[in-house]
Amino acid sequence: MRRQGMDYTGPTCLIISLFCTCCASPPNFVLLFADDLGFGDLGCYGHPSSLTPNLDRLAARGLRFTDFYSTSPVCSPSRASLLTGRYQTRSGVYPGVLYPGSIGGLPLNETTIAEVLKPLGYATAAMGKWHLGLGANGTFLPTKQGFDKYLGIPYSHDMGPCHNLTCFPPDVKCFGFCDVGTVTVPLMYNEDIKQQPVHFLDLEKSYSDFATNFIMTSVKENQPFFLYYPSHHTHYPQYAGTRTAGRSLRGPFGDALLELDNTIGDLMATLEQTGVINNTLIFFTSDNGPELMRMSRGGNAGSLKCGKGTTYEGGMREPAIAYWKGTIKPGVTHELASTLDILPTIASLAGAKLPPVMLDGFDMTNILVHQGKSKRETMMFYPTDPNEIYGLFALRLGKYKAHFYTRGCALSGTTPDPDCPAFAVLKAHDPPLIFDLEADPSEHYPLPLADRPDIQAVLEQIKKAKTEFEASMVFGESQVSKGTDPKLEPCCNPQCSPKPSCCYC
Ligand code: MG
Repeated sequence: MRRQGMDYTGPTCLIISLFCTCCASPPNFVLLFADDLGFGDLGCYGHPSSLTPNLDRLAARGLRFTDFYSTSPVCSPSRASLLTGRYQTRSGVYPGVLYPGSIGGLPLNETTIAEVLKPLGYATAAMGKWHLGLGANGTFLPTKQGFDKYLGIPYSHDMGPCHNLTCFPPDVKCFGFCDVGTVTVPLMYNEDIKQQPVHFLDLEKSYSDFATNFIMTSVKENQPFFLYYPSHHTHYPQYAGTRTAGRSLRGPFGDALLELDNTIGDLMATLEQTGVINNTLIFFTSDNGPELMRMSRGGNAGSLKCGKGTTYEGGMREPAIAYWKGTIKPGVTHELASTLDILPTIASLAGAKLPPVMLDGFDMTNILVHQGKSKRETMMFYPTDPNEIYGLFALRLGKYKAHFYTRGCALSGTTPDPDCPAFAVLKAHDPPLIFDLEADPSEHYPLPLADRPDIQAVLEQIKKAKTEFEASMVFGESQVSKGTDPKLEPCCNPQCSPKPSCCYC
């Protein structure tokens, strides 16, 4: 049914001929975003003991990317880029990540995917890990960024005292450390605290129910929808409810991953049952590479070098799957693509206007629908703490990647590769280290420049691309550097004392 106030005619509809016959029914979008899930963690990406039957099915029946990147090796900046189609340096979501009492957040003048779709009458909902700020009176929550509804934990679930971190089965000891001196981890519904502390073992079911209700209501009201599910899985500390705890082959990490996979199975079943599966693009990827410091509970980058916190491939190249029954043909693509490209792609498919800002993303419709070429030629690699003095740490152009700086990170500790942990201090490379990522995806063997005019020419092209990109980059005011205020931490009993321990309802 054509809805009042919407226009699905015009150039977009002409370009995307498949919708011209069904312009009255714009596509729905389900965006799934795993946390700290590495390139090698899914069954369909080669992990021998992960159980991910639903994701494997999506990959087998959809399009699996081999060269898909997030924009940051840590959570908050990566999420800012996903939702805005812009490098995090523009929006100011850096350095590092936001905290429960952070004063800043994703600035409200940034346009999110939800805000791109709202003028077309889309129903929008987010559930899971937000991690783009709360601020005073919930200034930066999803409901202020274009989402009609939100259910979730607004930051990482290890940002709370240990007693809030539930392990299952109960005799399994929680692994590692967590934040002390902050409020217990809350579950929020829209802008209100629904539970504090959150009941982790029931959480996934709450999400599944929330998603089912949202999809069913949207379909019933004949409204196109956008569901964004940034999962807490498989970030440390891993947890899993009774449905999956102890059921994987891979211990607590595998159980957490299986729980996420189960929820995706539930979502697919709802899309089938409501009859919208043929008109829904489902896109799955992850925010950053695996937290290797957690050892066997930290995820796996597969054949890629290092992991979370680094600008090596393991830190930012992610598993990615696009599924759209009847529209996307099954296959594997080696085209270069990024989380940055999701906003322009969704806008194009929906017939929405792009925000009038400098975007870093490209429309991927040609890759998805026609198995065609990517418009993306480069990928930029900023460290966790980008600044204008150092600029890019690395740049990929086509199949070549040049590292201008390298640095290990504590989050990637414990691996035998000496380049990954924190004691691999910042190192400038002049000339840059250059790798052929098709021949050497593990970044083991820098290409020699001597007597190789072809590689020297590539390096000149990379340097030119770097200069041009950096000239276009205007760093936004750092949101994370605004600091924290304990009074901003969410508390279900705001007048109680002593804080933070009294925030327990
Ligand atoms: Mg993460």
